Amino acid sequence: MSTNGEADHPIVIAGAGIGGLAAALALRAQGHEIIVMDKARALEEVGAGLQLSPNACAVLAKLGVLDELAPFAYAPDNLRIWSGTTGRQLATVRMGTFLKDRHGQPFWQIHRADLQRVLRNKAEATEGISLRLSSEVVDLTATPYDHLTCIYQDAEVTGNEGCKALIGADGVWSRVRRLVPGHRNAHFSGQVAYRTTVPIDTVPTRWAGDAGLWLHQKTHLVHYPLRGGRELNIVALAEEAWQDETWSAKADQETLLKLFRDWPTEVRNLLRSSDNWLKWALCSVHASGPWSHGHIALIGDAAHAMLPFMAQGAAMAIEDAAILARHLPKGTDNIPAALRAYERHRKSRVSRVQNISFGNARTFHYSGALAFARDTVMKLSKPTSLATRFDDIYGWTPEQ
Ligand SMILES: Cc1cc2nc3c(=O)[nH]c(=O)nc-3n(C[C@H](O)[C@H](O)[C@H](O)COP(=O)(O)OP(=O)(O)OC[C@H]3O[C@@H](n4cnc5c(N)ncnc54)[C@H](O)[C@@H]3O)c2cc1C
Repeated sequence: MSTNGEADHPIVIAGAGIGGLAAALALRAQGHEIIVMDKARALEEVGAGLQLSPNACAVLAKLGVLDELAPFAYAPDNLRIWSGTTGRQLATVRMGTFLKDRHGQPFWQIHRADLQRVLRNKAEATEGISLRLSSEVVDLTATPYDHLTCIYQDAEVTGNEGCKALIGADGVWSRVRRLVPGHRNAHFSGQVAYRTTVPIDTVPTRWAGDAGLWLHQKTHLVHYPLRGGRELNIVALAEEAWQDETWSAKADQETLLKLFRDWPTEVRNLLRSSDNWLKWALCSVHASGPWSHGHIALIGDAAHAMLPFMAQGAAMAIEDAAILARHLPKGTDNIPAALRAYERHRKSRVSRVQNISFGNARTFHYSGALAFARDTVMKLSKPTSLATRFDDIYGWTPEQ
């Protein structure tokens, strides 16, 4: 597939999720006309908490949305790690001002819907970006002219849009990925995440403030405040065979309590604090697969969906957006080469982060001697050394 120059055709981005909207802003800043299509009829408040580490905030600052996000974010002073077996604390990881001073940007926890809304508002207020909902991108074809055609489905109608490149930001079950020969499919991890948010004043005060990570065999729990500390995000993870391609399957509190039956009473009481649980099956897409083909490039979960055990899924999608735009200045005449360069630039970093998340998927659920060894190492670790272990991840900036 080839085109003669970029003419004045837009770049089409499939997906108005976190990566797609960030890419729209970053590519627009390079001077391109942008069309973002999303198959959803409305961008509804689905989802729960996401973590925005300093590396993600460095990009969001450049995109000019950090101030708008601040009222919805929460920056805990510490992450406390607990044993779900004994109920005792194993370690503290310094966060808050320690990480902000170290990396120059905050470490925030935020509701996905707040992040998406702020990015969307900015995109809609930016001339040269247009957002089309109910538009599922299905194909990209060559034309006899100097551009390509992106094919999309809008209800029963099939539409065409001339473009110079297609960016697949369409998430873990990406359709655009299928257009990339040799692509890797989404792989179910055997773990399911149950999630909810509750008003913080409806739970005992011990759950407010610091973020928490509780470890147990075959299950673990993550909780942290968001929305300026007004709500508590709770994610309970368990090994389970259920899987479906959705972010919001209704989940049953009784089933969850059965999975957490041998946990401390205070944690089980926390799980009882909401009867509005949703669940999603944790899937990954191995980052080693191809992310570009001709005038198509994949970003975010479409390219390399992560298990959430490093809390870097959204951050890596946001980083991709910045680096993709850097490789595609206005006037780029060899777009396929630019997209290949973007892929080369990103692959080793994303693979490293993904491998840490795969490793955590195992160590978080250790039992017996392995759990004992893990817990002993944690107990001996200093709060600051646990926080600086990932300096290369959190200290990244879009200029690197
Ligand atoms: C509804 C929803 C809720 C989520 N909730 C959470 C959560 O609570 N916690 C968490 O850690 N992660 C959640 N995630 C995933 C998280 O947003 C991503 O892991 C991360 O932010 C990377 O984002 P992304 O832009 O690559 O993909 P996503 O944020 O998943 O966005 C993909 C977008 O592409 C759209 N799309 C899919 N196929 C097509 C197509 N063919 N054409 C056009 N558009 C298409 C989808 O509607 C979606 O808006 C959620 C994702 C979604 C879509």
